[in-house]
Amino acid sequence: MGHHFQLSTMWHERCPECGEGKIFDSRWHMNPNCPKCGLKFERGPGYFTGAMYFSYALGIPIITAGTLIVWWITKWPLYKSVLLVWVLFLPLVPWVFRMSRTLFIHFDRYFDPDDKPVEPPVAEG
Ligand SMILES: [Zn+2]
Repeated sequence: MGHHFQLSTMWHERCPECGEGKIFDSRWHMNPNCPKCGLKFERGPGYFTGAMYFSYALGIPIITAGTLIVWWITKWPLYKSVLLVWVLFLPLVPWVFRMSRTLFIHFDRYFDPDDKPVEPPVAEG
């Protein structure tokens, strides 16, 4: 088993199998395999379509709450509040992108684990 279905592992965008290897190697780019245990993150074509739901689940509450707070403080028209929150939200987009994929991988592996990493571990440099 050995999956790390833990908030801290997800928060730090780590591998669901070993809990150590980083899922992302840059802001927008994923490692194809876990750098520690070799787990292949993308299980098949279109695998990350499911991550879309997590990005909605993360994005919509942030934007809704943000809009309400701005609207409540400024008493601006709603469209203006929404606009401001969208602009403020933009820097969070890469985070939402990474977090939604991370959560998706973790939930998918938790409910549908497979036995062993498919690829042998990559030698560490
Ligand atoms: Zn790993």
